[in-house]
Amino acid sequence: MTSASHAHDPDCIFCKIIAGQIPSKTIHEDDDLVAFHDIAPWAPVHFLLVPKAHIASMAQVGPEHERLMGRLMTLAPRLALEQGCNPYPEGGFRIMVNTGAEGGQEVHHLHVHVMGGPRPWLRG
Ligand code: AMP
Ligand code: ZN
Repeated sequence: MTSASHAHDPDCIFCKIIAGQIPSKTIHEDDDLVAFHDIAPWAPVHFLLVPKAHIASMAQVGPEHERLMGRLMTLAPRLALEQGCNPYPEGGFRIMVNTGAEGGQEVHHLHVHVMGGPRPWLRG
């Protein structure tokens, strides 16, 4: 993966994944977004959808990100089904965006968790 044209933080683990410096199980890549399997899944399907640009969290999202965030949120349900989430309404999925310390965020590169598949899940 390449990210030369995007904001990049050399100390950020997700920037390193996007740059191909750390391996990941990638399930989607386009000009603006990458999706890869979470390394510690809570659910049968659990992947992370992230902008290639280093945006620290939802707290940094502004009007300049409307198109990017719209693309991200419309891609999520498509990838969820492709990855094996069952169809709505019996199936479905959970989208979670932890933000800041009190929001439970550990990796400070904006990422959307998409979780689904048959219950029970490990967590959540
Ligand atoms: P959060 O608490 O929302 O910041 O979640 C960070 C998520 O990133 C956790 O679910 C981790 O399991 C996941 N994670 C951390 N390192 C990696 C990695 N190298 N590859 C894939 N997922 C990762
Ligand atoms: Zn980053």
